Amino acid sequence: MNIIFLGPPGAGKGTHAQRLMNELEIPQISTGDMLRQAIKAETPMGLSAKAYIEKGELVPDEVVIGIVKDRLQQDDCQRGYILDGFPRTVAQAEALSTFAKIDVALNLSLPDEMIIARLSGRRVCLKCGGTYHISALGGREDCQACGETLVQRKDDSPETIQNRLSVYAAQTAPLIDFYEKKGLLKTVECLGSVDENQEAVRKALNLK
Ligand code: AMP
Repeated sequence: MNIIFLGPPGAGKGTHAQRLMNELEIPQISTGDMLRQAIKAETPMGLSAKAYIEKGELVPDEVVIGIVKDRLQQDDCQRGYILDGFPRTVAQAEALSTFAKIDVALNLSLPDEMIIARLSGRRVCLKCGGTYHISALGGREDCQACGETLVQRKDDSPETIQNRLSVYAAQTAPLIDFYEKKGLLKTVECLGSVDENQEAVRKALNLK
């Protein structure tokens, strides 16, 4: 199954995509993670993407389209994949349709005030990709999966969160209509706990 996870920043795309990846044994392809890895490795692409990400702007379409196109050609994508954070513009979605056949676009939906609360308390592990909320860490600062010290993403600062929400509304939200018109859209309201939302995601995908 080839799945797209749509939805605003903080809706839980990464969390639910990771859980689904383990269950379905297909890769989660997160353009945000790939770009952060490129920044860490100081590759030319990473260096050019850094300023966009830190301001909460989108990295240019041709850059992300190129990385996803290459990634989908790898062997582990033959049985399916979960696109997490791509496409984010109509131009990316149109490009994707020329090299991939998508089965479902899952729109994770959440009100802005919940997004802000989630993102401002988010802590991430740059080593294994684990994501936590400070309210669940009980004062701990290390990743429960690999022990690495957790950090706050630079783009989870209050002013950058606002910008990311505006960018989402202007550039990414139109994809809801795009996939609705193609008959591929399913919307999941993510208002509950992680487990409850995951169940709603599974139900939307008709998983037993
Ligand atoms: P994420 O981890 O998905 O929240 O992505 C973090 C940041 O990476 C975004 O705010 C963008 O700056 C950049 N990014 C990730 N995916 C894309 C994409 N598909 N198109 C453009 N920029 C992206």
